[in-house]
Amino acid sequence: MSGVALVSDLAARLRAGWLLTRPVAPDTAAALAHRWAELPASARSPAQLLGRRTAGCEGTHGVFPRCNLACTPCYHGRDANRVRTDGTHTVAEVDRQMRYLRAVRGTDQHAQLIGGEVSLLDPDDHAAALQAMIRHGRKPLSMTHGDFDYEYLRRLAIGPDGQRRFRLLRFAGHFDSLMLGRRGIPRPRSEAELHPYRRAFVQMFELLRREHGVRSDLAHNMTVTPRNLPEVAEVVRGCMGMGFGMLSFQPAAYVGNRARWREDFHSVDIDAVWREIERGAGTRLPWRHLQMGDPRCNRSAYGVLAGARWTPLLDDRDPRDLRARDTFLDTLGGMNFERSLPVVATATARVVARHPRVLPLAVGWATRFVRRAGVRRLLTGRPRGLTFVVHAFIDADVVRPAWDALERGETADDPTVRGAQERLQACSYAMAHPEQGRLVPACVQHAVLDTEENLHLQRLLPVKQDGVTETQST
Ligand code: SF4
Repeated sequence: MSGVALVSDLAARLRAGWLLTRPVAPDTAAALAHRWAELPASARSPAQLLGRRTAGCEGTHGVFPRCNLACTPCYHGRDANRVRTDGTHTVAEVDRQMRYLRAVRGTDQHAQLIGGEVSLLDPDDHAAALQAMIRHGRKPLSMTHGDFDYEYLRRLAIGPDGQRRFRLLRFAGHFDSLMLGRRGIPRPRSEAELHPYRRAFVQMFELLRREHGVRSDLAHNMTVTPRNLPEVAEVVRGCMGMGFGMLSFQPAAYVGNRARWREDFHSVDIDAVWREIERGAGTRLPWRHLQMGDPRCNRSAYGVLAGARWTPLLDDRDPRDLRARDTFLDTLGGMNFERSLPVVATATARVVARHPRVLPLAVGWATRFVRRAGVRRLLTGRPRGLTFVVHAFIDADVVRPAWDALERGETADDPTVRGAQERLQACSYAMAHPEQGRLVPACVQHAVLDTEENLHLQRLLPVKQDGVTETQST
């Protein structure tokens, strides 16, 4: 190689390394700034993560609405089960939606492969959908009821050529006693009865790691109604030690299939669910200092579980921790930490070089955190991250007028509808409609758009073609 070629090759490598170790990609930074600017003023608090840490979660729609369990409630309409699960349609639609998300929200955002039941997809199609999401810069997470076998998981993770398709799989398993038809326990009488199934779900992923080196990041989801509210604490106690990285709870809302609305959902609110989670965790779970979107929609507590004790990452009552939060969000907020260690270390070093004040603040925060969690517990208690989440959907009959008014550029007079408008404007969970060039909140998707979309899908993918009868559908 000539001297000139050598210099040019070196320059190309340096440039590639420079781009690879950027703290935040420019399009992601622009998307975050845009999200921040469009938030309602009331949501732009120092605690707000939207527009600073993330543009928000994303989810697919109109892909595979069918499910083979029956939940009471179910946020899908009755028509959802009249649509055939079709891999070709799913992969094409996921690709289309993710391409749009990539264009308007940048890279490195979390996106849920969600519809009806994802494991009704052939494992190769499921893998192709995840690969499309990754190709478009998403961090995909498959939403499932978890009622599938290890062989399905293995065939998803390992291609027909025997090669590993993924280094990491993210799954959210939905387990609660309101779900009917699970193999082995079609009508659970309590949440505790489902613990062996929750454990078996995690164990499948542990086996996958042992046998094929595929890591996993698992969340546990549970719908909460008056019936199982008193058992939330038991679910938290049971699941904390199982290996989930997130325990997420959704108080039921009046959305979807009316035939499945069997209780007074309004008697359970986000506060009641949070109290039960705290009872199960055996500690206060501070959340106000880190907010995703609107507090009427979301509540999250981020921390570390070590030696059966959960410690929050930030002490919300310590002004020094709040200063560390502010500095983190200002300087490192949009950074993707789920890259290789050398890349993350270099990207962090670049930020520190530009903002040296980060370093003493980080050291101070880390020292305080280790003190709070306990050195010994951190050394011997197998520490791992554990986040508690509550996500409360809005009733469909409130979403509709709220969305209609927003579409007309009006603010509703009715305080309930106005409240829903504020929540929709600060929404942290978006779905893409590339054909209309816009994103919509998941609440709008399910309350307003799903019905029409499922009718279209019924015509496109009639269920009889795969031999499934409609008796399974309601
Ligand atoms: S999807 Fe609905 S409940 Fe969830 S954050 Fe958006 S507006 Fe709030």
